[in-house]
Amino acid sequence: MGIVDENTYTFNLSSVSGEKVNTELSVMVQSDSQTTVDLAYDTEYVDTDLKTAGYEKVVNTGKVGIGVANYENVYIDGELVQSNYISTDIITEPVDEVIERGVLTKDKSVDTIGILEYPYTGRISSYYGWRDLGYHYGLDLVAFSGGCYGDDVHAAGDGVVCFAGTKVGFGTVIYIDHGSGLITVYGHLSAMGVKVGDIVKTSDVIGQIGATGRVTGPHLHFEVQKDGKRVDPLLYLKRK
Ligand SMILES: [Zn+2]
Repeated sequence: MGIVDENTYTFNLSSVSGEKVNTELSVMVQSDSQTTVDLAYDTEYVDTDLKTAGYEKVVNTGKVGIGVANYENVYIDGELVQSNYISTDIITEPVDEVIERGVLTKDKSVDTIGILEYPYTGRISSYYGWRDLGYHYGLDLVAFSGGCYGDDVHAAGDGVVCFAGTKVGFGTVIYIDHGSGLITVYGHLSAMGVKVGDIVKTSDVIGQIGATGRVTGPHLHFEVQKDGKRVDPLLYLKRK
């Protein structure tokens, strides 16, 4: 019994000398088959020292690809007895998943944590980092419950007001220079209680929360800049 060629029927008469011929026929068929298969995607990690260790966020969702797996099958009397995987043709490539991963350790950030106070006692509704519409360069703060519109905004540290006015996106916004290259930004305000040149102390009221600029609702957008670069405010704020 053997395969002569693909899709060729091989008839096998087993015969043993001295006995009558066994007329039972065995039919072997070889044929190929194809199966659609998912192709797993790889996961790529992008480390950032602007986020603490443990932080992980998917910034590009992985997508499985589609492939066609080719098999060579052997049937005997219509029954599949062997299936050999040959190869896979790729129809659509999988898309890598990209995860932003914080690598900052406590020891590394300990010298900056606590330099600043929270400008508003509420909850963080949006963190520094990737979100649906792109990178968010600050913290969004809202009330723990109920509305926050009109609530007081406090200076995060001692400093001098270096901007108080309107900017695209930020709406009514205040910048405070704390020295040593450290600047804090308070956006979307409904009102300002300070002007450029004013000296402020930590927790002084500088304005009120609003919904000016590009917003979907009232909240305080708080940024921290170090040497002209926007950094994660959580690296500077006192731990709650
Ligand atoms: Zn924001």
